[in-house]
Amino acid sequence: MFKQKKSFARDMVTITKMTEMYCSAHHADSHSALCEDCADFVDYIEVRLQKCPYGENKPTCANCPVHCYKPARREQGNAIMRYAGPRMLFRHPLLTLAHYLQGLIKVVHPRELTREQRARLKMK
Ligand code: SF4
Repeated sequence: MFKQKKSFARDMVTITKMTEMYCSAHHADSHSALCEDCADFVDYIEVRLQKCPYGENKPTCANCPVHCYKPARREQGNAIMRYAGPRMLFRHPLLTLAHYLQGLIKVVHPRELTREQRARLKMK
């Protein structure tokens, strides 16, 4: 099992906060923190992050050579990022800084790794 607890938890907090900001601005009928569609989006991302092949050293999903989201979910994520991204710096500066630093992580596609490198990736 991959050790991805720290980056997984941080990514989940970040995506949840960004989706809440987007949802409250665009889905005024929503009576809870997230409307059904946005809650489904966060659940979908949680599954993708749990299955992420990069573990604790994952890049930001935007910089990922795999990009495992379905096209419709990717489009939904882009809309959320476009709206919430610029606002995150003021509302959640530490999460924004962590996301920026995560954006410096460079990875190659798992297909380009040797068997030993893939095994090491799983050990991290
Ligand atoms: S897009 Fe890339 S970094 Fe993001 S969860 Fe999928 S495989 Fe991992």
